[in-house]
Amino acid sequence: MENKNSNSGLLFVVSGPSGVGKGTVLALAVKKVKNLHIAVSATTRKPRTGEENGVHYHFLSVEDFKSEIEKGGLLEFVYNFENYYGTLKREVENAWKSGKDVILEIETEGAMKIKEQMPQAVMVFIKPNDINSLRERLTVRGTETPEAKLKRLDNASKVLECAEHYDFVLINENGKAEECANALVAVINASRLQD
Ligand code: 5GP
Repeated sequence: MENKNSNSGLLFVVSGPSGVGKGTVLALAVKKVKNLHIAVSATTRKPRTGEENGVHYHFLSVEDFKSEIEKGGLLEFVYNFENYYGTLKREVENAWKSGKDVILEIETEGAMKIKEQMPQAVMVFIKPNDINSLRERLTVRGTETPEAKLKRLDNASKVLECAEHYDFVLINENGKAEECANALVAVINASRLQD
């Protein structure tokens, strides 16, 4: 899969620790920019309350996910928090075909796989201003069991070390998601100018 040719658009990869507010920032950014598609990932994780199939994720059985792996239908995938997560190639290709650029919100291991395959991908890392704000946000979200929350927090400090492999590092300060979204929009617009 190529990007930056006549049949395709740009690919933005956004990562950051769990609880940093990537979803909020992306949702704000996508309202400010035309022709931008946030790719819906595939996962074997069970839907959380309020999550819809095809909107938040393509919720697949382990069997169906493995069959996608075998068919070569995934651009990248990881096994994380005891579940599979991955980017479906058709999700990206369909958006490109309709003239849209694509944003992937994925964790760092998958992001590095994309960077290897597609060095043109624009890599964006979202950081909290301090790690305590992550703890607060995961508590407020209340969707994790205490065990899962601890795992995610422990993982967060490892994830933060990966920021150096990204082209842009943006800070999402508590309550200032709009500012972070504006910074992301600036990255997107500048990348489009380079195309
Ligand atoms: P959650 O279970 O909170 O929705 O997501 C857990 C983690 O999986 C997050 O770090 C999220 O960025 C990551 N993730 C979601 N979709 C994908 C994907 O398609 N590929 C990879 N590598 N990670 C993903």
